[in-house]
Amino acid sequence: MNSFDLKLPSPLQELQEALLADASVQVLVKRDDLIHPEISGNKWRKLKYNIAKARNEGYAGIVTFGGAYSNHLFALASLGRMAGIRTVGVVRGDELTPASSPTLKHCTEQGMELHFVERGEYRNKEKGVYFSKLVTQEARLLLVPEGGSNALALPGVAEIIDECEAGRKVPDWYVVAAGTGGTAAGLLSRGRNVMAVAALKGADFLRDEIAKWPETATGTLDLQTAYHFGGYGKYNAELLTFIKQFEDRHQIPLEQVYTGKMFYGLFDLIKRGYFAKGSTLMAVHTGGLQGKLKL
Ligand SMILES: *Cc1c(COP(=O)(O)O)cnc(C)c1O
Repeated sequence: MNSFDLKLPSPLQELQEALLADASVQVLVKRDDLIHPEISGNKWRKLKYNIAKARNEGYAGIVTFGGAYSNHLFALASLGRMAGIRTVGVVRGDELTPASSPTLKHCTEQGMELHFVERGEYRNKEKGVYFSKLVTQEARLLLVPEGGSNALALPGVAEIIDECEAGRKVPDWYVVAAGTGGTAAGLLSRGRNVMAVAALKGADFLRDEIAKWPETATGTLDLQTAYHFGGYGKYNAELLTFIKQFEDRHQIPLEQVYTGKMFYGLFDLIKRGYFAKGSTLMAVHTGGLQGKLKL
């Protein structure tokens, strides 16, 4: 599995700045963004055992779903090419083409087959026409849900914990950006305390989504829903300024969809004295830099 030139374990980087010293909290960043330039942090973690299953059980390939800017599609396309596994992407929006976004261009270049489906149909994707045509009739394709969050994603994500805690104590909190909540679920599955900063608006439903995984029952979830900046993919000047300043201080690139919001929320909570003095916070950089806005 590790023939792909992946940087594992990914580095751990401690943030040094006065704000953290004043608040007496230690922030460590798990640099999963450095795992691979194309296979973004948590998407590698979630795909690892799915790819292994497709290989070991003789599947003809993997079919999955996403939008025109999906980090998941982007990562799977590269991984499929590198592993020699056929990949099929079902994309939301029948008005789109393989040239509609840099992400879709990349997927096409990597050899992913793209199918563009009308939005109403996409909503029923797992039951819909494309699913039956692609999976049942045509060939044995392994179905991986949108965002890559399935039962096989959890043990892959949990390996972050093994890497972070090798030779050090259990952090008080893992902090992670949340879209589907699969990454948070993987960390919770090991009984850790997990703060999930939602990248989308009205994210209270994520609590139930995450609780659907029985494995998560042992961990403690702190779901932060106030740092969405207007909704999924939305941002404003304040967020972009935060990202720029963070990058200048720490030489860690962030993007505006997930990790920028996560670090913004984390720093805001630290400023407000949310964390007990002496806390160790393990912020997981989940990657996604392919979608970074060019400023
Ligand atoms: C997909 C993604 C997430 C969201 O992960 P979930 O497991 O869906 O919650 C977070 N950060 C980045 C960079 C992502 O690409």
